[in-house]
Amino acid sequence: MPTITLYGGAGMIGGNKILLEDPQADRDSRLFFDFGTTFKTRDLYFEEYLNPRPGAGLLDMLEMDLLPPLEGLYRPDLVSSGEVWERCRGRPGYREIDSVDGVLVSHAHVDHTGYISFLKEETPIYASALTAFIAKAMQDSSMADFEKEVCYLNPRAPAAEGESAYLRTARESYRQRPFRFMDVPALGTKAKEYWESSPRKRKEIVTAPFEIAPDRVGRLPVRYFPVDHSVYGAGAWAVETSAGWVVYSGDLRWHGSAAEDTKRFIHEAALLKPRLLLCEGTRIPKDYEVSEAELENHTERDVFDRALRLVRAERGLVIADFGPRNIERLETFLGIARETRRKLVILAKDAFLLEMMGLVSPSVPGPSNSDDMLIYKDLRYRVEPWEEGLREQSGSRLLSARQVRDSPGDYILCFSFWDAKNLIDINVQGGLYVYSSSEAYTEEQEMDFERLRNWLGHFGMRSVGLPYAKRQSISALPEDEQGLHASGHANANDIMDFVREINPRTVVPIHTENPGYFLEHLKDTDVEVAIRDYGGSLTFG
Ligand SMILES: [Zn+2]
Repeated sequence: MPTITLYGGAGMIGGNKILLEDPQADRDSRLFFDFGTTFKTRDLYFEEYLNPRPGAGLLDMLEMDLLPPLEGLYRPDLVSSGEVWERCRGRPGYREIDSVDGVLVSHAHVDHTGYISFLKEETPIYASALTAFIAKAMQDSSMADFEKEVCYLNPRAPAAEGESAYLRTARESYRQRPFRFMDVPALGTKAKEYWESSPRKRKEIVTAPFEIAPDRVGRLPVRYFPVDHSVYGAGAWAVETSAGWVVYSGDLRWHGSAAEDTKRFIHEAALLKPRLLLCEGTRIPKDYEVSEAELENHTERDVFDRALRLVRAERGLVIADFGPRNIERLETFLGIARETRRKLVILAKDAFLLEMMGLVSPSVPGPSNSDDMLIYKDLRYRVEPWEEGLREQSGSRLLSARQVRDSPGDYILCFSFWDAKNLIDINVQGGLYVYSSSEAYTEEQEMDFERLRNWLGHFGMRSVGLPYAKRQSISALPEDEQGLHASGHANANDIMDFVREINPRTVVPIHTENPGYFLEHLKDTDVEVAIRDYGGSLTFG
């Protein structure tokens, strides 16, 4: 009988790593739904200046429970000695796994993709083309980091005697992971060229063959459904096991611009009469009381209307703070920029991401196809390799701090806390900071908010939508500051309706801090709710 095991996303938001195994002879297959970074566990031990050591490879990751102890699943080049696995063998959940047939990725958020970095390089990765291109653009434009080797890996070798690490970077070429693109009929020439390109001139990449729209993973028939979420290219999955269909929601909503996709998915998933549904519950609050504000589904249109009103009333500089991969939000502010005769100014890194997304989805707005978009030229010691082409092509599209200073009222800058240093170069007083980002945040972010408020205070900027006090949730903001963000997730009520409509025999809550809510609110249905902790399994016939 098939089994699922939760190695992440159990009783917590993010870090999904869900193993599905079907041992039946004609189906014998094994796959993962997502393989994300478990920030919650990582934050227990690590922070900005205390990180897992690349020179220790898998040792730190396994010892501190950032990866499940599944021997055989990971890159052998990251294992410095036999001792690494020896230490794991007595641990709860330890198992040998010789291979998996693939990872079925839902979308390009790091808590769903990040730790693909550690998987054996031959593990096939199934994803939408957009998800794959976002992951590559992010990897190309990041500092080298062994926790970010999602699309291609940088091989390591044992360090020499006397070196101060166990491992060092090998002289070998980068090696690309084999991807399977689920949603495109073909890759265009430019897209293929980029997909197969190395991020560094001096280091080659060994490419892996990609495949277009396969309908099986291992021996199991699979279906991929595009859904609406806060990142483009998001999807849900269904896999036909020997005991029936298993449906995986990924992260989803149906109050964004791709709402119809989610609705189609719900309809088609219900027709499969699933045996099992793995269902997200991000917005189900920890305590059972769901407040009115938390049930509010602000739409992107609300964000547009509300933010437009605020920007219209501002004569000075405007900064809009939102996740750069949230293209819908970018389009919202691009629209606001047009309405208020401003230009939308993005960072080079975000411009690069948009241009690369545009290679597989031409409707994605970028500096090359939108006249109202400029690229901020920040102060830097050197230009990174990924940036060179972009800077060459962009020429007159580059905007300096001085130009912003000369007419701050002409721009909306897409900055976040991490870009606050640019305010020193721009050096103007006053203006408006519109915080239009995710509703959930961690204690560490609270410190960042505190610092951000100090930066804004220093430059006399007013903020809207930013939580004022410690532990204050966005839903506690005054009425005129509400609705500056549309959530990427369906609310608690919608999720319960979603389960009822798909009507599986069993639902397993994932990606939620409150799985018990499912139990409570599905009492009146025939759906069985199965709650599992980290490492817990469920066998279903
Ligand atoms: Zn997500």
